[in-house]
Amino acid sequence: MTTSLISMGGNLGNVAQTIDEALQHLQRTPGIEVIKSSSLHRTKPVGADAGAEFVNAAAMLETSLTAHELLDRLLAIEAELGRVRTIHWGPRTLDLDLILFGDEIINDPPRLRVPHPACWYRRFVLDPLTEIAPQFVHPEKRTTFAELRGRLLVRPLVVSILGDHGEIEALIASMQPEVLHVNLRSLSRPQDVPTNDDGLLVRFPMNQSTSHNLAAFLPQLSKRISWLDVSNHETDQRQTLVDILRSVGL
Ligand code: ATP
Ligand code: CA
Ligand code: CA
Repeated sequence: MTTSLISMGGNLGNVAQTIDEALQHLQRTPGIEVIKSSSLHRTKPVGADAGAEFVNAAAMLETSLTAHELLDRLLAIEAELGRVRTIHWGPRTLDLDLILFGDEIINDPPRLRVPHPACWYRRFVLDPLTEIAPQFVHPEKRTTFAELRGRLLVRPLVVSILGDHGEIEALIASMQPEVLHVNLRSLSRPQDVPTNDDGLLVRFPMNQSTSHNLAAFLPQLSKRISWLDVSNHETDQRQTLVDILRSVGL
């Protein structure tokens, strides 16, 4: 048996009822036992096309299924409860994500990645999760979910952005009027590298000369708890940064 954590959310229809039905579907599945579920959290949507306010929750399961079988069951329940996949990160009746599966690290993209890659910096995942599993350890970050959440509550939150200096400075300048309680910094040169691992280190795409300047630091930086690599995201950098700041609760 494996203990697993899932997150649930939606912003179309009666989400409280949909989440309740999802938990019943899970409980009725052979090989799945619902151990605990969190209260419902109302959260602001993340993403340009996300639509109305979300309702989020988390649950702890005990299962004899494999991680891939559990994922398939989650996707089937989403479909049964009316989710139609249209735009990415668009409005949805129900989203079920597999956050943690024992202490397994599963890298089978795009089908399955566990721990869920964004779980450690999304307040709408962490807030419900820490209600039911605060002392569970994130196997890649090697720290508890309570600690991961606590790190995001610091104000001002220091967000260092790795990328090409001119571009990042312009990006930061364009953000200033709308972001409070955050200290945005460009990290493009060795002298910019922070000595501690507070806040977030967000890696955007960078040209050869920047990666050359930072070459000696990148391997160490990528091991820090705060490391968040979005260099392969498809949305534009400003939207990506806005989404990250919204996700961390700013
Ligand atoms: P995000 O993953 O950023 O929260 P999303 O939940 O909106 O985005 P979906 O459209 O619901 O993304 O899922 C797309 C695919 O992601 C799924 O079909 C699934 O195969 C894959 N996937 C990979 N890892 C996971 C995971 N840990 N939990 C759920 N789905 C995953
Ligand atoms: Ca999701
Ligand atoms: Ca999903």
